[in-house]
Amino acid sequence: MIKGIGEESAEALAEMNILTINDLLEHFPYRYEDYRLRDLSEVKHEEKVTVEGKVHSEPSLVYYGRKKSKLSIRLLVDRYLILVTFFNQPYLKNKLSVNETITVTGKWDQHRQVITANEMHTGSYTQNHDYEPVYTLKGKLTMKGMRKYIKLAFNQFGELSEENLPATLRAKYKLLSRFDALKALHFPQGMEDVKQSRRRFVYEEFLCFQLKMQALRKFEREHSPGLQQKIDETKLNAFIGSLPFPLTNAQKRVVNEILDDMKSPYRMNRLLQGDVGSGKTVVAAISLYGSVIAGFQGALMVPTEILAEQHAQSLKSLLEPFSVRCELLTSSIKGKKRKEILQQLSEGEIDVLIGTHALIQDEVAFRNLGYVITDEQHRFGVEQRRVLREKGENPDVLFMTATPIPRTLAITAFGEMDVSIIDEMPAGRKSIETYWARHDMLERVLAFMEKELRKGHQAYVICPLIEESEKLDFQNAVEVHSTLSFHFQNKYKVGLMHGRLSSEEKDAAMKSFTANEIQVLVSTTVVEVGVNVPNATMMVIYDAERFGLSQLHQLRGRVGRGSDQSFCILLADPKTEVGKERMKIMSETNDGFVLSEKDLELRGPGDFFGRKQSGIPEFKVADMVHDYRALETARNDAAVLIQSDAFWKADEYEKLRNELLKTGVMDGEKLD
Ligand code: ADP
Ligand code: MG
Repeated sequence: MIKGIGEESAEALAEMNILTINDLLEHFPYRYEDYRLRDLSEVKHEEKVTVEGKVHSEPSLVYYGRKKSKLSIRLLVDRYLILVTFFNQPYLKNKLSVNETITVTGKWDQHRQVITANEMHTGSYTQNHDYEPVYTLKGKLTMKGMRKYIKLAFNQFGELSEENLPATLRAKYKLLSRFDALKALHFPQGMEDVKQSRRRFVYEEFLCFQLKMQALRKFEREHSPGLQQKIDETKLNAFIGSLPFPLTNAQKRVVNEILDDMKSPYRMNRLLQGDVGSGKTVVAAISLYGSVIAGFQGALMVPTEILAEQHAQSLKSLLEPFSVRCELLTSSIKGKKRKEILQQLSEGEIDVLIGTHALIQDEVAFRNLGYVITDEQHRFGVEQRRVLREKGENPDVLFMTATPIPRTLAITAFGEMDVSIIDEMPAGRKSIETYWARHDMLERVLAFMEKELRKGHQAYVICPLIEESEKLDFQNAVEVHSTLSFHFQNKYKVGLMHGRLSSEEKDAAMKSFTANEIQVLVSTTVVEVGVNVPNATMMVIYDAERFGLSQLHQLRGRVGRGSDQSFCILLADPKTEVGKERMKIMSETNDGFVLSEKDLELRGPGDFFGRKQSGIPEFKVADMVHDYRALETARNDAAVLIQSDAFWKADEYEKLRNELLKTGVMDGEKLD
């Protein structure tokens, strides 16, 4: 590979997935060590500092304990005589002699005038080393070694690193060439170099990523012609006019976006985002009606039976007055009834089918399915969504989700989809009053709950969440359940719901809560998104600091669904400032998008979707939150490029085209 890198080091590099010279050159530093010399009078207590000075006294070395040692010298730095100590580096003693110049880096103790050093160089080190890159390392690799290898790689091969950005774009944004950017990245003369280098690589990374997304979209469209659904505007407007309320502006906008897609010759592939209660169901109903009057059947797939039943009920009440036949299909619908539904579905007598996974079974056949909606799409696998879609011939597809996803994440994780957002709540909605209480206030919280229960209302209690352990989650739920059962004995019934229950048992628990046979439902986070029990006006969340803001918001959305004021109590003893900050934000805002942006900011993109599902690409240099503007720019540029002839033909785009080819996008490989 490279002259100067031994076998052992090469193996260690391979461990880090650094296999080629390019990998090495693209091993980006995650920060820089600042070796600039500073005047000690300007350095604050405990700050890191690099100084150059003359050794003033013989070093003294003391051993204490096994293997522990402390080496001290007096160092004359300008006019200061300070003490420099090295812990557990006894071998440095031989490198130090009186009157010699050395450079040390370490932490400055202003009160005692001591530097606890972790780095030492003989002579004046800093002249060419104002800033040194700091790289991630693994195994036996050392920082010195890594810096050396990268330098070797750069000196031998740096010039071969090919420019992939076209000159026009580089000129437009004044971006460094790839070579200059690599040089500035690994051997910066100052932080401005680092900044310019980063700018270039961030843009390159986002552009390549967005090109891939846009190409996918383009090929998806070209390879899957859609239905040009002819929707009778008069009929549709009559339906909209019959609703018991006017649509919000946001609803009007997304309805138009969806209908435009349906009417277009392309197959719709759209994500509809809207906070809990923002009115997605109505949007679903309007677009389903549109498809039905265009002569097609529609399907709505939701993750649980309860949700399926609730949706079926609301769609029936909205659509049946307009002679649209809606039916529910779940696995509990069996025998004769099931046969009848399947029969009528295949004959086209049923216009809209609502259900769970039951919809994708083989026996379910539509006559002409033209429109498919999936609710809480992340709960279904790619395969399940595909099967449903293939029950029609290129039906338009809409995914709905109540999880507000910050725009940056949405266009990254779902870059190949179009995104519609309902960012406005229907007027007059009461916001949920949220309070933060410490766990030792539980008695008072329970007294408050009892007050609500006495009014005939119901309450949810969400149990502590234990990272990575469903087993402990379950034990916690059982414990809280027995505490509360004891507390409310003879007065109110307390139910229990957790991940160990079968889906029938969960449904049964939910049903008795819906029917008010249970007044308090103790649950782990399995309590379903979208479940609607308007009589529940209170939620208590244990260990609230362990949840992400978005998740807390989702949970809180189970209450506040009726006309009465609802409450949410966050029980939390956060230990950090960030933790306290999060509890405060929760009690201050009911806006899911604000919370999701905050969540992203505080937790980073990796954690945003939680441990189970991500779909978020890992970027080497770019940071979606921080580099948000670059992401938008790259997205717009990619969209223009993909549609242009030049991109597919001109030489200056060849490298970018090759990057795209590498991803396999053009082999017709679909992403879904
Ligand atoms: P989501 O599915 O987004 O959580 P829903 O569609 O269930 O929300 O709507 C929540 C409630 O708000 C429903 O009772 C619905 O009838 C009502 N609603 C929807 N749109 C409006 C509107 N524009 N004005 C007033 N109420 C509305
Ligand atoms: Mg269409």
